[in-house]
This record gives sequence, structure tokens and C-alpha cells, in this order.
Amino acid sequence: MRETEVKIRTLPDPVLREKSKSVTKITDAHRGLLSKMARIMYDASGIGLAAPQIGINECLCVADIGNGLYKLINPRILKSEGVQEIEEGCLSVPGVSVKVKRAKKVLIEAQDEFGNFITIDAEGLLARVFQHEIDHIQGRLIVDYVRSK
Ligand code: ZN
Repeated sequence: MRETEVKIRTLPDPVLREKSKSVTKITDAHRGLLSKMARIMYDASGIGLAAPQIGINECLCVADIGNGLYKLINPRILKSEGVQEIEEGCLSVPGVSVKVKRAKKVLIEAQDEFGNFITIDAEGLLARVFQHEIDHIQGRLIVDYVRSK
């Protein structure tokens, strides 16, 4: 089976709007899923992908802005600082870009694929990607940031 046959879910697929479940026991299935998500992300030339985007409502995401792959389980923001507002796109909202205001720096806590707790100090683009993927896990999409006039 070719990975490219896995379809990235797009709006208005309701799976994108569900709150994802925390992973309580990390198994080989999760490790396999994270690798598969990374391949799908690279195939789609994306810089981040969350599990709901392939139809799975679990707290998993991958990200790579060009300096290494992150595979995160149960990611959450411990601290955020500053503001950045930049046009953002999303593989699940094709053809749309939205100005999104996000924190400039975030401190992320997550588990790696073996269950170890890790913290990541991220800023700029990486901070933005993590916030975007955590939004996905909570059922939030970039279109929610469109300001009503
Ligand atoms: Zn997205």
C-alpha cells in the first residue's frame, strides 16, 4: 500500500472538529502511526501534521520545519510569550490562508514515542507550527481566526 493513498482530511470533515483523546498507553501502533504521519507530511510538503488530519482523534502530531523531525504525543503548552501574526495555511483547509495571531515563543511539554517526557523551547516558525498542531488536537482550525468585520 502506498502512503500517498492515505487521504488528508479536509473541511468540512467532522473528524477535524473533534477534541482528541490523550494517549494513556503508548504502543507500537502509536509509533507506527507517527512514522506514517511523518511520511504523509513530507509527501504533502507540509511542515506539520496532527492525527485528526488523517482521521484519528488522538493527541499525536509531527512537525519538521527543516531542522529535524519532531514526533509528539500529548503535546501541551506550558508557557507562551510575545505575539506574532503571520499568514498561515493548512493541509486540511486547501487554498486558504489566514492571518493568525500566535505566541512568539512557547514552551512545549510532550512525550516522545517511547513515553519519555520532553520539553521543547520553540520560537518563530517552530512555535507557530506547534501551536497550529495543538489547535488541531483541540478541534480548532485556522478559519476560526478569521476576524468578523
Ligand atoms: Zn493544519
